[in-house]
Amino acid sequence: MKSLNRLISAFRRLPGVGPKQAERFSSYFLKASEAEANELCTALQNLKKSVKLCSNCLNYCENDLCHICKDEARDRTSICIVEKPKDIELIERTKIYNGLYHVLHGTISPVSAKEIGHHKIKQLAGRVDASDPKILEIILATNPDTEGENTALYIADVLKGSVENISRLGYGMPLGADIEYTDELTLSYALKGRTKV
Ligand SMILES: [Zn+2]
Repeated sequence: MKSLNRLISAFRRLPGVGPKQAERFSSYFLKASEAEANELCTALQNLKKSVKLCSNCLNYCENDLCHICKDEARDRTSICIVEKPKDIELIERTKIYNGLYHVLHGTISPVSAKEIGHHKIKQLAGRVDASDPKILEIILATNPDTEGENTALYIADVLKGSVENISRLGYGMPLGADIEYTDELTLSYALKGRTKV
């Protein structure tokens, strides 16, 4: 059946979904009511229509600015640089950081910086230069793996003339780890023990 196969291949494109699981999802919707199928379609359409990137920090949001950039109580002199929007949630849970964020949506290697990474760096450097109040601290919270380390070093190099205090997440973060899968306590220690780059 053409329409069933089309649904199976759509599910197969989802991360972590294998052929068996894609088939199970599809046969679920084959039996589900039309209302339930419509609910999934509408939820997906709304997501695509309303979720944008914050014009300041590139976090996901439904307005021009995300809830963190809009919050007047945040320290506007500090920016924590992360790879993914999800990393913000985890750092927020530690409750020890009250500054702003900047999402890279990936890593930047010095080799590829001229091509794919260039606009990201320009955007970040532009934000730092235009900031009022002046940015006093940059925390590099990219993952402690090779790509994350290279990205952190590259950004530190680009921003070192503009920001006095640039630090990297400290001890406690296992090498090769992904911030997304780091527990709150380890992340708290890593933030508190950040070291100057
Ligand atoms: Zn924002």
